[in-house]
Amino acid sequence: MPLSSDHHTLLRRRDELRQALAGIGELRPGSLKSRYRKCGKPNCHCAREGDPGHGPHWSLSRLVKGTMHSRAIPAHAVQDTQRQVEECHRLRELTRELIEVSDQICDAQLHAHRPSVSKKKRVLLPSSARRSPPRSNA
Ligand SMILES: [Zn+2]
Repeated sequence: MPLSSDHHTLLRRRDELRQALAGIGELRPGSLKSRYRKCGKPNCHCAREGDPGHGPHWSLSRLVKGTMHSRAIPAHAVQDTQRQVEECHRLRELTRELIEVSDQICDAQLHAHRPSVSKKKRVLLPSSARRSPPRSNA
């Protein structure tokens, strides 16, 4: 099969993905959450009905070997952390697509380089073919 324009589209997309991967920033696995809490003091504003409580308090949660780990993220770092979390998602998405595109490229190369069976002797056996046993040195 000659290399089609389809194939060139794949190669171009692969290069784009590699370039995007090279530009990936810092990575934060997990998810960023904010919550408000009540301090429990009866005279505090948070004790009033409808008051959201104190906060937001930000934390980064991450499941490690079945256990949820959580760390506090100070307010000044929330924006950066948000970006790092998103970057982590972006990396996974880029990686998934790159594998997919690369797989198709490999497929196309496989077909392009397939030897024609009619002209040559049968050199390549199908993978299901019986392997010859190692020769014994008798
Ligand atoms: Zn309070």
